[in-house]
Amino acid sequence: MEQVKLYDTTLRDGMGGPGMSLSVEEKLKVVEALDALGVHYIEAGFPSSNPKEAELFERLAEVELANSTIAAFGMTRRRDVAAEDDEALRTIVECVAPVACLVGKSWGLHLEKVIRVSPEENLAMIADSVAFCREQGKRVVFDAEHFFDGYRDDASYAIDCARAAANAGAENVTLCDTNGGNLPEFVGEATAAVVAELGDAVEVGIHTHNDAECAVANSLAAVSAGARLVQGTVNGYGERCGNANLASILPALQLKLGFDVVGDEQLESLTPTAHYLDELCNLTPDADAPYVGRNAFAHKAGMHAAGVAADARTFEHLDPAAVGNDRDVLPSELSGKATIRTQAERAGLEIDDEAAGRAVTRLKEREHRGYHYEAAPASFELLLREEAGSYRPLFELESFRVTTEKRADGRVETEATIRVRVDGERYLRVAEGNGPVNALDRALRGAIVDRYPHLADIELTNYKVRILDESHGTGAITRVLLDSSDGEREWGTIGVSENIIEASWEALVDSLEYAFQE
Ligand SMILES: [Zn+2]
Repeated sequence: MEQVKLYDTTLRDGMGGPGMSLSVEEKLKVVEALDALGVHYIEAGFPSSNPKEAELFERLAEVELANSTIAAFGMTRRRDVAAEDDEALRTIVECVAPVACLVGKSWGLHLEKVIRVSPEENLAMIADSVAFCREQGKRVVFDAEHFFDGYRDDASYAIDCARAAANAGAENVTLCDTNGGNLPEFVGEATAAVVAELGDAVEVGIHTHNDAECAVANSLAAVSAGARLVQGTVNGYGERCGNANLASILPALQLKLGFDVVGDEQLESLTPTAHYLDELCNLTPDADAPYVGRNAFAHKAGMHAAGVAADARTFEHLDPAAVGNDRDVLPSELSGKATIRTQAERAGLEIDDEAAGRAVTRLKEREHRGYHYEAAPASFELLLREEAGSYRPLFELESFRVTTEKRADGRVETEATIRVRVDGERYLRVAEGNGPVNALDRALRGAIVDRYPHLADIELTNYKVRILDESHGTGAITRVLLDSSDGEREWGTIGVSENIIEASWEALVDSLEYAFQE
């Protein structure tokens, strides 16, 4: 099997996404996670641009990686300056990263409008910079910026830029769709042309952005045309519409195109790794993401669920276990006992025919009242447990009270008082919070972590409220969806009531009870 290598740019290109910011500590965790996944190159950023980056490179010198090689990112030398006198280039050759990734121009429009150098000078800038890094003992990847737009404009000049890097000793020339607007057929053609011209001398790579929603397709088209290195970010982080999503590209390369990319076990860690990276970046994992999303193998309709139960290939493009995901059979009004059975099996519950029948009836009745379990599988599992007889209540509620007080100076204060029994013991707890749900959560947790300390680590990661029938004004039904995480798993719960506090309470209790069951 032929090898294709992955090159992750989360720590540089990925940081361009809105709200993306990682501490040095978090960046090191990203590096460790990518290394464990088997990513071949990890681009750590510009070694010089600020003290945070400098510290990262210092710390990376102490990290031992099993699979990955660190790359430092920089630009070709400035015009009218010798490579060895260019300060940024000097910093790159002096840093710990064995690989230097140098970005350079390959499109006349940029030479004219942005950096104002002649085509000849640009070729010299590329060649000098690559040669300097090679002399100083670095391996070099050359990123040909705007390559595809340049190729459309003047194919032979774009290829000359790639050739200049290859002749100067770059081991890889990566063709970039920097503006992200190209389509797969053209990307494939242009890549094939470069491979035909330079393929004997240098490895060709691909770097795409998702502005036309083709970053993954463009990467795969380039590989089919002979590229053997794919740059991108796990989960597609990046500015504008993001970079090519390695979480989709990796399984496609390995399971569909038959390339050797990472080990089978590493591929099976893809879903948890993708979710972990989201966790580090403080993002909620996209439930609808291909391969790694919670809904990626979720089947709704009764017929689909029955088909999957008979033979998964009927409605699935690959085995979810191969990418570390699970089959998730969504309950819905259409589902029958077969769905309930599959769902119970997944949760490791034994449920007999009679109990399955009761669960179907209850499910239908609840869906009628506004419950929607597709986004709340943990609440659904609790319902199944109750019917199967394996539900353990976490506590008994005596009462709770929440007050919110607004002062003349604008301050708002919220306090919750709760009385519960946990394992027969009575607890009275009072807590303040930044809102009623937060205060209730803190008061309740204050009571139960005494007995069950592990429930203290659960984080409520997402809280969504929807009014189901606005025509009734304040009498409308409120539906609350709550996502929780313990750092490894995430689960969704639901509450429905005319009262928003009651709906939130229900979702909160389900969240903690779900974590409590075993
Ligand atoms: Zn980029």
